[in-house]
Amino acid sequence: MNKKIATPSTTLEIMNKHGISAKKSLGQNFIIEPHIIERIAAAADCDKQDLVLEIGPGLGSLTQALGEAAGQVVSVEIDRTLIDPLRETFAEQDNIEIIHADALTADIPGLLAPWQQSGRFRPGFMAVANLPYYITTPIIMRFLEQDHGWRRMVFMVQKEMADRMQAAPGTRDYGALSLAVQYRASARIAFIVPPSVFIPRPKVASAVIVLERLEQPPAAVRDEQQLFAVIRAGFGQRRKTLLNSLASGLALPKEQITAALAAAGIEANRRAETLTIGEFARLADALTNTGSAGTTPGEDNAK
Ligand code: SAM
Repeated sequence: MNKKIATPSTTLEIMNKHGISAKKSLGQNFIIEPHIIERIAAAADCDKQDLVLEIGPGLGSLTQALGEAAGQVVSVEIDRTLIDPLRETFAEQDNIEIIHADALTADIPGLLAPWQQSGRFRPGFMAVANLPYYITTPIIMRFLEQDHGWRRMVFMVQKEMADRMQAAPGTRDYGALSLAVQYRASARIAFIVPPSVFIPRPKVASAVIVLERLEQPPAAVRDEQQLFAVIRAGFGQRRKTLLNSLASGLALPKEQITAALAAAGIEANRRAETLTIGEFARLADALTNTGSAGTTPGEDNAK
């Protein structure tokens, strides 16, 4: 398609042509302002040597801009009814691949492997999306914890979520998401987006956040999965003291938690929201020494 998708008229034209209505259950809010699309693409700052993973292409508004800027775009969409319309829209663009999958469970390295192995692109990839709000935290946590080899992530999220990603210890917004983001990336809000640029309009403002991968995490830790397990457990019951939240979240005896807290130099009556990433790293290492922290049950304990 040559004309811009992100306008009210083209968006409605595509929706009417294919009998599409926005599904609230899948977080479908389509961008109808070309200017916003341009700014997201500018924040992604990609070129023809870049491989871009897009999550949730919707009607293809952002996909279109990414296809123009990047070498290859791989777009993962969960809604079966959008797949044929997307493939029709981009039938002429051979650097846009539409994949029907759930970004929460899809094998991301496997999906990207054909392009990553081609040698045509820079190592690593960029993840860009206007994220469905209902799964923002689990998607971002998945990318941070499993580390699929991304270099930069540029996501439109609820403004409140962007604030959490940048939050400092001791503040209301500080939680598992803040720590996971700050362990892997530097985070900055590129710009704020009002509800008026979407069909249908969400209730709250959004923000575009840029997560630039750090060369080195800010704290050294022996076992990263242990670190994430401890962070999740700590914030699983954020009102409790660390001793109690870790004992129940990690299903470990209190004596073992007490010993690890002492070894890490952290008072047992502190709460997770007061710990820095360095303190969490010390605690994770101390728990490794005193036994295993294991993994916490549940997907989304963030905040
Ligand atoms: N990128 C389009 C835009 O900016 O106009 C649509 C964004 S809309 C906020 C979110 C999109 O993510 C929808 O197309 C929705 O169907 C899709 N989506 C929701 N859950 C998903 C999941 N688990 N995996 C992949 N796509 C998903």
